[in-house]
Formats: sequence, structure tokens, C-alpha cells
Amino acid sequence: MRYGLISDVHGNREALQAVLKALVKDSVDQILCAGDIVGYGANPEECLALIRQQAIPCVAGNHDWGVCGLLDLDRFNPWARTAILWTQRHLARADFDFLRALPLTFQDDILAMTHGTFNAPSGFQYLLGSFQAGEAFPYLQRKIGIVGHTHIPGFFVRKGGDVHAGVGPFLQGEEGCEIIINVGSVGQPRDGDPRAAYGIYDSDKNYFEIQREPYDVKSAQQHMRECGLPVFLSERLPRGI
Ligand code: ZN
Repeated sequence: MRYGLISDVHGNREALQAVLKALVKDSVDQILCAGDIVGYGANPEECLALIRQQAIPCVAGNHDWGVCGLLDLDRFNPWARTAILWTQRHLARADFDFLRALPLTFQDDILAMTHGTFNAPSGFQYLLGSFQAGEAFPYLQRKIGIVGHTHIPGFFVRKGGDVHAGVGPFLQGEEGCEIIINVGSVGQPRDGDPRAAYGIYDSDKNYFEIQREPYDVKSAQQHMRECGLPVFLSERLPRGI
């Protein structure tokens, strides 16, 4: 099975379209989304439509919950809160129903997925380093875990009780390893690379890749400006921060 792994689309239609096109070329069998379809970007409704049209299994992110009223907006910074309030005014009832129905975790025979960490899916904590990964691994019910939330792609590997971070965009899984992959963000990368990030996992080869796909950042920024979304949110896109 070849998985295409996306996360943190954040209403960025241009980035999502570019990644979905790339995933066709990558010949994946199954696309999964680790949450935060909405929030920040100017086209939340279109992004939800694309995810639903393709019946992409998705878990709830903190912004998805913020938008549909399941998470207190005090939990967000002022820019995020402004974008969530704007998003709430631009969705249909069916979109809210869809967001409310998203599960916090997903699993199939091969992998498990959540937005933040496996030890506290509804807490939306950030899995930023080996320490947090070490706390999450005991709760991972498969050998492979998929997360997003930090907008920073990377890998964490547990073998024989030791947890370490992977280096670089590729990882070959080994016998006896458990692996958590953070697939980064489609719509608002924060690792200094403005290109949309996504992951590929080939379960037959137990092989992971983080891929980057350029998209029309200027067009995404223009839509955000036209919508009156906070200037900081559009200005961060070309800087990948
Ligand atoms: Zn996010």
C-alpha cells in the first residue's frame, strides 16, 4: 500500500490542489489527512469540498474544532482567532456538521493517525522533539504513527526503548522499529521552506519520504488580502514561517 499523507491544509486551496495533483503522479493508493483543513487561509469551503469529494479519511485538528465550536477560542493566538471567526462566517451548515463529526484518531491495519500526540489526542499538544515522541509511543497502537500540528515535517523512531529524531527527508523503516512521521503542512509550512509539504509511506517497503511541492503562493496571498484576513498570515507564506 502506498499512502499519501497530508495535514494542516488551513484553507489554502492553491496548495491543496497542487499537492493532490502531485499525489496522482506519485500513484498513491490511499490519501489520509491529519487535520486542520480550515483556519488561516481564504478558501476553507473549497478545501473541505476537495477533501470530501475524494472521501479522504481525516482526523480533527484544533482549528477544525475551534471553527465548529468544540474548542474554546481562548486556546488560540489573536491571528488564529481572527481567522477562525472569519472562517465561521464563510462555511455552510454541512461544513460545520462535517467538522464536528471528525474523529480525533484514525487507524487501519497498518498505521494510526492523530493531529497532535497519541497520548492526549484531544489536548492538541505539539510533538516537537524526542522527549514528546517518547511520551507518545506507548499510546501508539500500530507500528506507524502519523501526526501534523507543528507544521514542521520530521520523523521519530523508537527502537529497543530508545527514541531519536530522523534526519533528512527519507527514512527506511527497520525490523523492530516504531516510527512517528510528522508530515508537515500543506497550506502553511513553518520550517523555512514555503513549498507545500506532504508525506509518502510505502508500507510494502516500509519506506517514508517527505515531499515538497511548489504552488502559487502569490495567488493564495492575494485571496487572503482580499478577504481581509490578518496581514501577518499572508506575509508568512512566502517565508515558510
Ligand atoms: Zn495547523
